[in-house]
Amino acid sequence: MTTPPRHRLATDTDNGMLLVISGPSGVGKTTITRAVERSIPDSVFSISATTRPRSDVDVDGVDYHFISDTEFDRRVAAGEFLEHAVYAGNKYGTLKGPVDAQLARGRLMILEIDVQGAKQVKAKMPRAFGLFVLPPSEEALLARLRARKRDTEEVIQRRYNVAREEIAEAKRCGVYDAFIVNDDLPKAIDEALRLVREAREKRAAR
Ligand code: ADP
Ligand code: 5GP
Repeated sequence: MTTPPRHRLATDTDNGMLLVISGPSGVGKTTITRAVERSIPDSVFSISATTRPRSDVDVDGVDYHFISDTEFDRRVAAGEFLEHAVYAGNKYGTLKGPVDAQLARGRLMILEIDVQGAKQVKAKMPRAFGLFVLPPSEEALLARLRARKRDTEEVIQRRYNVAREEIAEAKRCGVYDAFIVNDDLPKAIDEALRLVREAREKRAAR
């Protein structure tokens, strides 16, 4: 007789899936990710830890856990991260504990992380589904970075310069299952939802 897993809740399933969403800064990842989260009831957004300064629009504990450099390094040494990376001069990492817990409950766990992080995740968890969001053009990307009204022009330029290399690396690294162009936002959201639901159904059928 098999022993039932401990702490199993009535709503738990075996349908867990890890969804990795990446794309250059300003492309619309957060907008798309939050829409996916609202439309799929059992989805959970992974709140990353970061050393990036908190902007006026960021909410600590909702958008990120904003922590110091020393605290970040302590967590790296303690093995608390599933993956971590430096992006445009700041450190970012996914906490392993919540990811394992939500997947064990059968949830759709969403990681909005960069390409370096996605590569680490895919190496550890090959069944993760990877989506990469592309801008319709470089000009549109720059305009959106400015439209966020979050960063200084210097930071905007730094992020814009990272974008080109990031897109090239995403296309060659083989980590992403699908690429979405975020031109018309509602269309991009619909496509993301369709791809995620399809991937989840395929996994459930196996
Ligand atoms: P990211 O998380 O990739 O940095 P955001 O989701 O913060 O990007 O979006 C950056 C800006 O672009 C926001 O002001 C957002 O409202 C806007 N935006 C998102 N998608 C589109 C789109 N398809 N067309 C025009 N503006 C968009
Ligand atoms: P932002 O500062 O604009 O919120 O995020 C900058 C970049 O860091 C984005 O590409 C975002 O997806 C990525 N990012 C956010 N959290 C993490 C994380 O936990 N790990 C990694 N590797 N990248 C992250």
